[in-house]
Amino acid sequence: MKFVADRMLGKLAKQLRMLGYDTLYYRGEDAYPLIRLGRQESRVILTRNTKLMARKAEDMIVRITEDKPLPQLKELAQKAGIDMDEERIFSRCLLCNAVLDPISRTEAEGKVPDFIFHLQEQFFRCPQCSRIYWPGSHQENMQRRMEGLFHHKAEGRNSKLETNSNDQNTKSET
Ligand SMILES: [Zn+2]
Repeated sequence: MKFVADRMLGKLAKQLRMLGYDTLYYRGEDAYPLIRLGRQESRVILTRNTKLMARKAEDMIVRITEDKPLPQLKELAQKAGIDMDEERIFSRCLLCNAVLDPISRTEAEGKVPDFIFHLQEQFFRCPQCSRIYWPGSHQENMQRRMEGLFHHKAEGRNSKLETNSNDQNTKSET
């Protein structure tokens, strides 16, 4: 499932990219280019605009009514069935939407802060803006919040997840 978010939904677009969903962000005010983009690339249109209506059978429009990004994501999960996939999460640049390339530690050296370089083993680079990403604490916090959102039914599994991530932390420090 691919998306194009309207100008009111920039933060939701970023969250979707974080989850690994191909999501364009349309900053314009006119509705027609937004609809055309949806049609041309088979993207689900995400909008806050209550007047935007599907004009053809192929138009897929999801109207978002929540104000804040996390509830918006939850709303979208209910309306369009998006989910969190470990394979896909953090695979895209949050700014460009491009799929990140894994790079070697040597390539990352000098391009990230020294303490990050020594702490991390995996680095990724955006092929468009060259921004470098790593599995940092920000990601873990975000991942936990998203896990809470998508897997709130399976609460019994949470303790297991916590233990696993703690194990990994201890290993990376040695
Ligand atoms: Zn980028």
